[in-house]
Amino acid sequence: MKQSLKRALFAVALVFGLFLMVGCGNQQASSKQATTVKDGTYVGTSKGEGGTLKVAVTIKGKKITDVKTVETHETAGLGIEASEQLREAIVAHNSVNVDAVSGASKSSEGYLTAVKNAVKKSGAPLSLFMSKKKIALSKGLAKTDYTYDVVVIGGGGGGLAAAVTAAENGATVGLLEKQPNVGGNTAVSGGEFNVPGSDIQKRKGIKDSKALFISDTLKGGDNIADPALVTTLANNANSAYEWLKTDVNVRFHKDELLQFGGVSVPRAVVPVGGTGAEIVNKLQKKAKKLGVKIYTSTKATALTTASGKVTGVTATNTGKPVTFHATKGVVDAAGGFAANVAMRVKYNPKYDATYKTTAVAGATGDGIVMAQKIGAQLVDMKQIQTYPTSNPETGIISYVADARFSGAILVNQAGKRFVNESGRRDDISNAIMAQKGHYAYLVWGQEIEKLSKTTTTYKKEFNGLKSSNLLAETNNVKSLADAFDIDATTLSNTVKTFNGYVKAKKDPDFQKSAAFTSIAKGPYYIEKVAPSTHHTMGGIKINTNAQAIDTKGQVIPGLYAAGEVTGGIHGTNRLGGNAICDIIVFGRIAGAQVTKD
Ligand code: ADP
Repeated sequence: MKQSLKRALFAVALVFGLFLMVGCGNQQASSKQATTVKDGTYVGTSKGEGGTLKVAVTIKGKKITDVKTVETHETAGLGIEASEQLREAIVAHNSVNVDAVSGASKSSEGYLTAVKNAVKKSGAPLSLFMSKKKIALSKGLAKTDYTYDVVVIGGGGGGLAAAVTAAENGATVGLLEKQPNVGGNTAVSGGEFNVPGSDIQKRKGIKDSKALFISDTLKGGDNIADPALVTTLANNANSAYEWLKTDVNVRFHKDELLQFGGVSVPRAVVPVGGTGAEIVNKLQKKAKKLGVKIYTSTKATALTTASGKVTGVTATNTGKPVTFHATKGVVDAAGGFAANVAMRVKYNPKYDATYKTTAVAGATGDGIVMAQKIGAQLVDMKQIQTYPTSNPETGIISYVADARFSGAILVNQAGKRFVNESGRRDDISNAIMAQKGHYAYLVWGQEIEKLSKTTTTYKKEFNGLKSSNLLAETNNVKSLADAFDIDATTLSNTVKTFNGYVKAKKDPDFQKSAAFTSIAKGPYYIEKVAPSTHHTMGGIKINTNAQAIDTKGQVIPGLYAAGEVTGGIHGTNRLGGNAICDIIVFGRIAGAQVTKD
C-alpha cells in the first residue's frame, strides 16, 4: 500500500475511532488521543470467587476488541455467566468501568480486575478505557411482544432440558429466566442422577432394575406418589442420562456411583465437578446452538389464556411489561418454593423462618402460583424436604458433609450418636431437630476421606468452613471433641463403639444400613451441620405426558410442567439422586409433547 493512502486511511480511522469513543461516553479518550497503544493481546490475572481468573484482552486501534477467558474456577451459570455479561459490556463500550453483575459481585470484581491488569500490560493508561459514567448492564428488551412456538418459564435443568428438546424437534423456543443467570437449584445441586441399569452399574457388576428403582422411590416417599409418574421416571432415566452424555455432551465420572439414603444399591451417576453446573452449562450451550433465545432477568408474572388454552406468558424485564406469545404451548419449569418462607408456612407451618434454605433466591414458587391462578390442580403441597447436613449459618448445602455417604457419623452436643446416618433425609433431619440446639456434628477420619475425598473435591467450601469455625481438622479424637466443647471421653467411646460395629457390619443402636467405614486414622474431621429446607415435593399435578391437569382432572391445553414445579413424583420425601432424574426425564417429555400437540 502506498504511504499516502496509508496515511489517509489512518486519518479516517482516527476520526472514526474518536467519534466512536465520544459516542460511547468515553470523555477521557479525547484528551489522550496522542497516547500510543500497541495493538496486541495481553493477559491479566486476578482472583475471583473460585480462585485464579486469567483473561486475554485484545486491543486494536485503541479499542478493546475482545476478551477471552483463559482460566476460570467460577461457578457455571453464575460467575461464568457474569463474566460473559461483563465481556459484552466491555467490548460494546470500550470501557472497563462497568457495573458488577448483581448476585455475582466477587466474580465480577475479579473479572474486571483481571481485564484491567491485562490492559495495563499494554502500556496504555487505564484511564483511556475508563468511561466517566459507569456502564450499566441491563439494557432492557427491544420489543414488548415476542412470539415463539414454545415458551419455557425457568432456566434450571428442567426448563433447559425442555427447551433443548423442543428445539431439537424443530420448534422455535423462548426461555424466560428471572435471575440474571440461568441455573436455578440445578446448578448448585450435587448433580447426581439415579440411573437404574446404567453403563457404570454394569461395569461395576451392580444389579439394579427399573422395578427396584420404582419400589425404592415409592417406599421412600411413603407410598403417596403417583405410581404412573414414578414408572415413567424409571422407564426414561437411562435414555435421559444417555441423551445428556451423547447429545448434550455432559461429562460424568466414569467409575463413580453414589448410594443415597433409601436407595437399595449405588445408583447415582455423578457429573464432572461434582455439581449440577456441568449439566446446566452444557444444556445452555446446546440450547444456544439450537437457536433457543434465552431471556435472563425476565420474570414471568402470569399465564395468558384464550378459550381455555394457554397461549403465552406476561413478564417483566427491567421493570417493563413484555408479552411472550406461544403458538404451541408453555412449559412451566419455574422450580419449587423452598426459598419462600410465607409460601412454606402457608402449606406447612412447621417450616417457618427457623429453617434456613439450601435453595437459590429464585425458588419462590411463582410457577405454581401462576398455574393455580388459571385452574391447575396442586398436589402434596405440604410435603417439604429438608437437607440434613447443611451449613448452620448460611443454610447452604454442605458438600464436604457428603462424607456421610462414605460412612461419617453424626453425634450430638453430648458426643453421642442418635440416628442411622444412612437413613432417609427426613428421618435424619427430624432427629437432628430433636437434639439440643437443633444441630449436630459429623465426624470422620482418613479411611472415609479416602473414599469420599470431599475435603479436597470441595476445597473452597472446606476452607470456608474452617475459617468460620464450623469445621475442625485435628490429629486425635480428644482435640476433635475440644474444638466444639463436646465431652472428649463420651466422643472417644462413641467412636470406639462405632468402630466395633464397622467390624461386625451391624449397628445394633441405630441399624445403620450402609457405608460401614472405621474412624481410626487421623487427621480427623468434625463439622457442625443443621437441616435446611431443600426440596418442595408438592406442585402442579401432571400426567405422564407432562401435561398440566386442572382441578377437575382434565388436561389444561397448552400448559406443560416439568421439574420441581410439579408434584406427585416424590411423595413425602424425595430420594437423593431423583431430582436430576425427574427434571431431565420430564423436561424432555414436556419439550417433546409441546411440539406434538
Ligand atoms: P428445576 O430443577 O425444576 O429445573 P430449578 O430451581 O433448577 O428447577 O430452576 C427453576 C428456575 O426458574 C430458576 O432458575 C428460577 O430462577 C426460575 N424462575 C422462578 N420463577 C420464575 C419466574 N417467575 N420467571 C422466570 N423464571 C423463574
